[in-house]
Amino acid sequence: MPEQPSDTSRAWVEIDLGALRRNGAAIARHAGVPLLPMVKADAYGLGAVAVARALESLHPWGFGVATVDEGAALREAGITRPILVFTPLLPADFPAARAARLTPVLGDASAIARWTESGDAWQLDIDTGMARAGVRWDRIGDIAHLLARVPPEGACTHFHSATDSTSVAQQRERFATALAALPSRPRMLHAENGPTVEHLDAKSTMDVVRPGIFLYGVGSGHGARIAPEPVVNLHARVVEVREIDDGDVVSYDATWRAQGRRRIATLAIGYADGYRRALSNRGEVLLNGARARVAGLVTMDMTMIDATGTRCEPGDVATLIGAAGSDSLSVADVAERAELSPYEILTGLRARLRRVYREAA
Ligand SMILES: *Cc1c(COP(=O)(O)O)cnc(C)c1O
Repeated sequence: MPEQPSDTSRAWVEIDLGALRRNGAAIARHAGVPLLPMVKADAYGLGAVAVARALESLHPWGFGVATVDEGAALREAGITRPILVFTPLLPADFPAARAARLTPVLGDASAIARWTESGDAWQLDIDTGMARAGVRWDRIGDIAHLLARVPPEGACTHFHSATDSTSVAQQRERFATALAALPSRPRMLHAENGPTVEHLDAKSTMDVVRPGIFLYGVGSGHGARIAPEPVVNLHARVVEVREIDDGDVVSYDATWRAQGRRRIATLAIGYADGYRRALSNRGEVLLNGARARVAGLVTMDMTMIDATGTRCEPGDVATLIGAAGSDSLSVADVAERAELSPYEILTGLRARLRRVYREAA
């Protein structure tokens, strides 16, 4: 049952920190190495500070973010473990990164040259085929002089198709080629994201693994060796209920028309909260033991559902993601209906939604 936030709460995200921690423990056990949890993008929308604190008990090596601001926010909250910044920093970001004691992951020669003017730690990003960031695996020689000056404490790569064993194997080979070309082996190597770990049939050969979405309750499904527990619940309250007549329309552009007399409930959540407009006329929500379909276009602040045959009244709580009674809607279910990725559903949950943290029994 959702913890009851104040009665005025219109819509909120509930985060099960116990499930988050169990997912972290499960993926660390499967990988056989410590975690470098990815808490970028505010821990995929769930709240980076709360997530990082909750994961502390698993003794992660450190945390991964995308920006200096994200790393600085963790520092301000008292997180003292190493924090890696994975999106390449430009030299203009360096003073703030140094001030927050962040460790950049770099792949550009001039950025490496500038960063290593001091002795501050950094890690080397090696592009083995994603063509997003990092020095190409076959061009290590170009930066050999920089590597000798301040050797990177770590080196990493990223798989473009985490669950495809052929391309993963090719990228692993390229990574090994690049490592062999380094003047010395960095203390710490890492490559696997969550989906790659899920598909490992032996322990990782790296020093840490970098799961993100698995921690937050979304597994890659088919062929995975482990599956996460759900972590996220999205709730909104019914704020009005009306009966409409045959032929009446609902919401902007009149894309939904009543066939017979229908009961329409208005939920206080919309696309400005992250309940995506792509769920118009397709999303389903759980309400008082039944499933109800979104009726008409999702609007900025409200969403209507066809609650015909369901007893409901203002104040009732609808579940848009999560379990209610014996039924449930996973992040993946919602993503599929919206034709979006689960990553977009989670990171799309906006600041207007209150975050409620609980420890499940
Ligand atoms: C986001 C990210 C991850 C985590 O990916 P998931 O698919 O969420 O497990 C790992 N490594 C890097 C470099 C990333 O950018």
